[in-house]
Amino acid sequence: MKKNVIIVGAGLAGSLCAMYMLKRGYDVSVYERRSDMRKTKLSAGRSINLALSKRGWTALEKVGVDKEVRHIAIPMPKRVMHDLDGNLTDQYYGNKDQAIYSVPRGELNVLLMNLAEARGAKIFFNHRCLDISIDRPELTLLDNNSNRELTISCDLVVGADGAYSAVRDKMMRQDRFQFSQNYIEHGYKELLIPANPDGTHKIEKNALHIWPRGSYMLIALPNLDGSYTCTLFSPYEGKDSFEDLDTPKKVKGFFNRVFNDFAKLTPDLVDQFFNNPTSSMGIFKCYPWHLKNYCVLIGDAAHATVPFYGQGMNASFEDCRVLDELLDKESDMNNILKKYSKNRKPNGDGLQDLSLHNFIVMRDKTADPDFLLQKKIEQKFSQKYPDKWVPLYSMVSFTNIPYSEAWEIGMRQEKLMSKIMNIPNIYEKWDSDEIMSKMLKMS
Ligand SMILES: Cc1cc2nc3c(=O)[nH]c(=O)nc-3n(C[C@H](O)[C@H](O)[C@H](O)COP(=O)(O)OP(=O)(O)OC[C@H]3O[C@@H](n4cnc5c(N)ncnc54)[C@H](O)[C@@H]3O)c2cc1C
Repeated sequence: MKKNVIIVGAGLAGSLCAMYMLKRGYDVSVYERRSDMRKTKLSAGRSINLALSKRGWTALEKVGVDKEVRHIAIPMPKRVMHDLDGNLTDQYYGNKDQAIYSVPRGELNVLLMNLAEARGAKIFFNHRCLDISIDRPELTLLDNNSNRELTISCDLVVGADGAYSAVRDKMMRQDRFQFSQNYIEHGYKELLIPANPDGTHKIEKNALHIWPRGSYMLIALPNLDGSYTCTLFSPYEGKDSFEDLDTPKKVKGFFNRVFNDFAKLTPDLVDQFFNNPTSSMGIFKCYPWHLKNYCVLIGDAAHATVPFYGQGMNASFEDCRVLDELLDKESDMNNILKKYSKNRKPNGDGLQDLSLHNFIVMRDKTADPDFLLQKKIEQKFSQKYPDKWVPLYSMVSFTNIPYSEAWEIGMRQEKLMSKIMNIPNIYEKWDSDEIMSKMLKMS
């Protein structure tokens, strides 16, 4: 008999996971709390773009949907750094033929739901998961269409219901289940740079734009329609914080002073600032990621993180691939889910460490000459000795090396590079054979 899988949440992870489960020949039903986003208009300030990188693509390829996603993806081989005076500096992410990709979250979600349905998934909207039994594979859902509760049994429940997962909440009733949540002091707000009247982009299209300003940071990712979805990261409290910027005059003054070239590109900035919501960011951890032999967490439900490495979705897609690989190897669900929790949890932790680390890199280091020189030295060494050195950013974004390994290697590299950067006159001799052979000896 066909295995019956219920996926809670038709977000990015749930929709992709549906295709993985269908590929295995399972019967797949997806229950989603929200109404069908294909029938509603996206509200302003909620049009997040996501950076898709190697791990995400690998997981999409494995179920054969990468080609469709490429149609809505814009390659970004570099960052363009905007300084206080509006001067621009290009910073390539890796080799010039490597890129991360800007994809609109809403369109990607719609595409994945369409593809999952076309392959046989049944998606039920306005169905909220209320409860999951801790004795047997059984869920209680509230059907908001009829306002009735229903109880459904299945063989496997996949909790893909995001950072505030109801499935995880219920798993917390298990003895020794671990959970923590930590919000950072910064929040974020979406802003939009509109397209030129002829639909072209106002600033360079094939790049992620960044305005690093210490406590504040702004980034912009290109959209296909010529606009840019931008995210302002700022503290909730203190001078020039979200709380402090409470009048149009203060907002105008702040942007003119701190993000002047951006302000010129965004005529309705003040309206956007007050109309768009401010959202929080945090790190959510839990363990185990499964319940007995019938329930498993994927995506943000298992490892929600702050967005600074652009890896939350990539990691969520990777969860689907890794779970699928374990399902390929054996049939005992108890073992499979245990192994998934055990192997994947260190990578969830690695992802979260990397994400916090990259906040510092983005807001402080991308404008720091020492950091830029360090990156140049690393790049040169890694081109000369590719089997000895892959820079941390490249390991995370352009390979499928597990996050925990990337984090460990990256921190080792960081120690070594701080010794190299302390060599007297490093700015004069960074390009020399002496530095390359020192690195070779130390690595
Ligand atoms: C500002 C910002 C920028 C980001 N940038 C990037 C980036 O550049 N690259 C990247 O890889 N990641 C990025 N991320 C992270 C990425 O958005 C998430 O990691 C990803 O969306 C996780 O997917 P998910 O399916 O696990 O969760 P979600 O996308 O949150 O989907 C969960 C789904 O479950 C549904 N649901 C919730 N509760 C219930 C319930 N009780 N019953 C039924 N359904 C339910 C929700 O309605 C939703 O549809 C960013 C995140 C933020 C906030």
